[in-house]
Amino acid sequence: MISRIPKWIGDWLESATGPLVKVLEIHYITPSIKKITFQGNISKMDFIIGGASVIRVSETEYRNYTVAYHDIEKGTIEVIFHIHGNGVGSTYISTLKTGDELYISIPRGHRAYDPKVKQYVFFGDETTLGLACSLFTVMKQNGDQFQFIFELDNANKNVPNLLGLENHTIFVKDGSFSSEIWLKNLPIFQTPDFKNTNFVLTGNVRSVQALRRVLKNLNTGKILAQGYWLEGKKGL
Ligand SMILES: Cc1cc2nc3c(=O)[nH]c(=O)nc-3n(C[C@H](O)[C@H](O)[C@H](O)COP(=O)(O)OP(=O)(O)OC[C@H]3O[C@@H](n4cnc5c(N)ncnc54)[C@H](O)[C@@H]3O)c2cc1C
Repeated sequence: MISRIPKWIGDWLESATGPLVKVLEIHYITPSIKKITFQGNISKMDFIIGGASVIRVSETEYRNYTVAYHDIEKGTIEVIFHIHGNGVGSTYISTLKTGDELYISIPRGHRAYDPKVKQYVFFGDETTLGLACSLFTVMKQNGDQFQFIFELDNANKNVPNLLGLENHTIFVKDGSFSSEIWLKNLPIFQTPDFKNTNFVLTGNVRSVQALRRVLKNLNTGKILAQGYWLEGKKGL
């Protein structure tokens, strides 16, 4: 995905790619998890579950973020941001305050939900809490079976509870998810039959890659694997 373009193209593209929205409400779930409600004309937005919207975070740089909830009637969308303090996007989002305005692009990308599939296992971290929320809403509506697995900083381990997510297992980040041997021994992977279960693997690229390798040796349904950030790499 493009994360950098010249300023003049950005100025021109800005109004063409999505609506202008205003920051209506801000809620810090923890000091590093900032949930923002934006309001604007979102009537033309198609909210693909698993899609990402682009936000301009400096004159020349763009980053991907996920709409967690939307309400067409009220014209509101909610995005859950990880304020990790390491990049221009995180810094820009940390400065946003009520009344600020910005353009947010129409979501695009891979569909993470298939209404024909009734069983899901989701893996993610702070950057994918928004996707987890949008998936949770539809899975609950459709009576699907699901399990969330999160790797989170210790300070954020209660966030899935605070967001009202169900059926979640939390691991505090300690690098274990990049170890295939450790992953293979997780109780969830002792389940003999995953052939009707889709896996949605998101978040840290290294964890996603390790999980994917483990799952490739099992008989599973579809695996959607998309890293959301990579150590040392700008703007995935
Ligand atoms: C499809 C998609 C949807 C996404 N949705 C969301 C979302 O809803 N909410 C959200 O918060 N993020 C989301 N992300 C992730 C976000 O785009 C990245 O974390 C992005 O790198 C942040 O930009 P930045 O400018 O802050 O850091 P960058 O300039 O991109 O990176 C600078 C440094 O920061 C580090 N870094 C980047 N992200 C993290 C992190 N999360 N934790 C620790 N260190 C990090 C990297 O190691 C890098 O070296 C999404 C990404 C994708 C691809």
